[in-house]
Amino acid sequence: MAFEGLADRLQNTIQKIKGKGKVTEQDVKEMTREVRLALLEADVNFKVVKDFVKKVKERAVGQEVMDSLTPGQQVIKVVKEELTALMGGDQSKIAVSDRPPTVIMMVGLQGAGKTTTTGKLANLLRKKHNRKPLLVAADIYRPAAINQLETLGKQLSMPVFSMGTEVNPVDIAKKGVEQAKENHDEYVIIDTAGRLHVDTDLMDELAQIKDAVKPDEIFLVVDSMTGQDAVNVAENFNDQLDISGVILTKLDGDTRGGAALSIKAVTDKPIKFAGTGEKLDEIEAFHPERMASRILG
Ligand code: GDP
Repeated sequence: MAFEGLADRLQNTIQKIKGKGKVTEQDVKEMTREVRLALLEADVNFKVVKDFVKKVKERAVGQEVMDSLTPGQQVIKVVKEELTALMGGDQSKIAVSDRPPTVIMMVGLQGAGKTTTTGKLANLLRKKHNRKPLLVAADIYRPAAINQLETLGKQLSMPVFSMGTEVNPVDIAKKGVEQAKENHDEYVIIDTAGRLHVDTDLMDELAQIKDAVKPDEIFLVVDSMTGQDAVNVAENFNDQLDISGVILTKLDGDTRGGAALSIKAVTDKPIKFAGTGEKLDEIEAFHPERMASRILG
């Protein structure tokens, strides 16, 4: 499971300071040094670590700790709050359009889990709102992608809109949204093409789809197993498309967690969901506070 190494190290570190009735500057210094190493080892972005440690240090040697009756506990509270803030603070929900359908565009590199996550998200929306979203197959470059989405649609008993591989993805996306309007669907989720690497053609096409359908959400799907690459990919897509949120996949793997801990700080976009397995119900809303509690024990 993700974060295991990081959780072990951080829990060891805070254990040492937990019961202290008096916390000296030296104690804080030692703790933050260990926290810093733990985060770097978990592959958290260097600059993110630096800012984080600075904030914790400032608060941990400040009045709020020194004046408290349980300074050790108070320091841990500071670490937890800052870890929560780092991952995004309050969990943000999916935007809903006041003029349905709500249009969700899924973007990401090939293999990140975009198509699977499209199915998972559709499943989640149906469970929550009891409405079937329309799935739109706009990845025409990988013919198997359309089949994959159609198979998912069958598994979930959900409609899939596709026009084969000969039609421009921008037109497919537009027609898909039109169809959702006609059907009075509440949501439409567009599965777009991915590439192995970020490239200009892909970004141009995604920008055109964005212009054409004016999505309420653009979710970037990133593979948490790819560590710092995931953070770079997120930065890149965000620069080009101004994404609205991130969905981290494969958190069930033994990822060190660096991506989860860096993406919000680097892009200022929230992680909205986490994929925790290959099955269609293995997705959960990403709650920074719960995640911080899990890491800090
Ligand atoms: P796409 O190319 O981005 O559309 O990626 P796919 O949806 O085809 O997924 C690529 C692979 O990752 C598939 O084998 C999926 O089953 C797998 N996958 C997707 N999400 C998760 C996840 O959260 N956990 C695990 N373990 N595997 C996942």
